[in-house]
Amino acid sequence: MVQERGKDWCCTQVADVEIRDLRKCFGNVTAVDSLSLTVERGEFVTLLGPSGSGKTTTLMMIAGFETPTSGDILIGGESVISKPPFKRNIGMVFQNYSLFPHMTVFENIAFPLRMRKLQESEIRKRVLKALELVRLPDYPFRYPRQLSGGQQQRVALGRALVFDPPILLMDEPLGALDKNLREYMQLEIKSIQRQLKITTIYVTHDQQEALTLSDRIAVMNQGRIEQIGTPQEVYEKPCNRFVAGFIGESNFLKGKIIDRIGETWLIKTDSHLPIQTPYIDSLGPGMEVFVTVRPERVFLLRGEDAVDDANHFEGLVEEVNYVGEIVKYRIRLEGGEALWIKKPNVTGLRKYEEGDSVAVGWKWEDTGVFVG
Ligand code: ATP
Repeated sequence: MVQERGKDWCCTQVADVEIRDLRKCFGNVTAVDSLSLTVERGEFVTLLGPSGSGKTTTLMMIAGFETPTSGDILIGGESVISKPPFKRNIGMVFQNYSLFPHMTVFENIAFPLRMRKLQESEIRKRVLKALELVRLPDYPFRYPRQLSGGQQQRVALGRALVFDPPILLMDEPLGALDKNLREYMQLEIKSIQRQLKITTIYVTHDQQEALTLSDRIAVMNQGRIEQIGTPQEVYEKPCNRFVAGFIGESNFLKGKIIDRIGETWLIKTDSHLPIQTPYIDSLGPGMEVFVTVRPERVFLLRGEDAVDDANHFEGLVEEVNYVGEIVKYRIRLEGGEALWIKKPNVTGLRKYEEGDSVAVGWKWEDTGVFVG
């Protein structure tokens, strides 16, 4: 289906983006700090982080709407710091659509082409192609108020792409949509980006969206990038406690490193539970650490069933949360700590109730360890 849309359209001047040691201060607030990032041609990179972590400020500096305090931004190898926004030739989509209410869909999308003084016949050709690309071929004469939120965002996307920009920036473009439409539009955006192979930098605070869309994710916190990697890397191998807590769900147990056992560290939690984690060179005996394990990586069995694994404990089911496709259990471990466990709600899988005695366990390979 996607291949049929705007099929003779591909981005002809895709560029890479290089951000070097970027910093932005607003008075005594450092919004972005020592940020360096390279986005390859055709890559989809997401800036993911909590509110106030500097995502929008970074995007605005790339677009040219904010001036960096220091650092450099290169597009296609050329510094754009001294160029005004319109000369950077970047396509941009915002959360609030920013459509012109008094203009039809056709005129909204045509706007960047009129600014560039293209011939009327060329404008018409390109707008119709953009409408096809964003699946709105039947709505050229409607006004934004006559469209749903999802349709308005398609118009905004068409307008951002119609002038064949080398780079597309998107700031929470799906933030105003409901969950179902949001998930649908994620797939649309992804397929259009793949089709056009346009270099894209996307901002969101929604980790699921970032995992679904991105080639790589830059996890931001307090103006800095904490980790950058593929969705799998940041989920499976978070580099620190912040990333482990921000992407996906994690259980955190506080403890101290006791000794090395082969390729693992033996850690005693504050309540003296022994836990084995992968050996990490930079850590050593006596260090205070946090041990993490994802709720979906923990086995859950009836108390009398054995668990043959490095990290194996007795516990009691303290709370059961039914969440549709999964069931969440809070288990109070023998030492006193609590652990959340997630199990798919599928036929045939054993269900547990509050008060059940259980055995829990997980592989040491599935355990993370971070300095506190
Ligand atoms: P959100 O997800 O809430 O949009 P964000 O990660 O995009 O957050 P930014 O909007 O970039 O974060 O803001 C980063 C920091 O800079 C925040 O502390 C914010 O209050 C501050 N800030 C942003 N713009 C300005 C401004 N124009 N004047 C003063 N402070 C600002």
